Amino acid sequence: MNRELWLEAHAYLRPLADLSAQVDLAAAGIEVLDARIPDWDDYRLDFLAGVPLLSSSDAAVDLEPGGRMAAALVRRMASATSPDWFVAETRTLETDLLHQPQVSRRIVDFLRGDETLTPPSPGLLRYLAWTAMARFLRPVVNAFDGWRDEDRWLRRYCPTCGCLPAMAQLVGADPGRKRLLSCGCCGTRWQFKRTGCPFCETDAQRLASVTIEGEGGLRLDHCESCGGYLKTYDGQANEALLLADWSSLHLDLIAHDRGLKRMAASLYDFEPAPHQ
Ligand SMILES: [Zn+2]
Ligand SMILES: [Zn+2]
Repeated sequence: MNRELWLEAHAYLRPLADLSAQVDLAAAGIEVLDARIPDWDDYRLDFLAGVPLLSSSDAAVDLEPGGRMAAALVRRMASATSPDWFVAETRTLETDLLHQPQVSRRIVDFLRGDETLTPPSPGLLRYLAWTAMARFLRPVVNAFDGWRDEDRWLRRYCPTCGCLPAMAQLVGADPGRKRLLSCGCCGTRWQFKRTGCPFCETDAQRLASVTIEGEGGLRLDHCESCGGYLKTYDGQANEALLLADWSSLHLDLIAHDRGLKRMAASLYDFEPAPHQ
């Protein structure tokens, strides 16, 4: 299953696919600044206590260069040519950000949940900034994957950035079959219980699953307790496409029609401004 075949079968995803490809291309043209790999011994206690890596003052990962990359991506997209609504919103965003002192630091704080930065299109800034930040963080995420003892985490939020998962993935065959949760922000994948709901406060809930036929291994798992659902990729090899979140937005519509609630984090919930 490649991207083109997927888009042939799901033509309605094409505008979002094109937009996502355009942003990825622009992001790929930005110089990747160096991220310092933390000293894992400094972070160990926080890790065991459930503190995500980027929230740990002991790990002290400096995100400011990632914020600079994010600002550069906003500038690049503001000079893009299409689609019109996207470019218009990005220009408004750029103009607003230009007035901010220490804009790279402000963007980092914004991604970390600080609400004092109130950009005109927060969803758009979140999407662009995480796209750039994920590239900055890739060496850190890879090193963290190599160091992390998955059995000591098993939490519902991302061990790197603390976000709730965007999707899940089932890998391997029994008896070693595992469920991974996938972060839509920083790109980390981490292990979680096979059947528990990542959105409930009580962890005892099992997820019921609704299998969508003919969807490349994608399915919907939902929780009868909280009504939340999690899009799940049951398979391997097509992660880049099938865990991208935008490639399965039709599953979100199906879930919505069934009265299920999206509790998973998504970078694609920005709304285009109403246009004539
Ligand atoms: Zn993350
Ligand atoms: Zn639940």
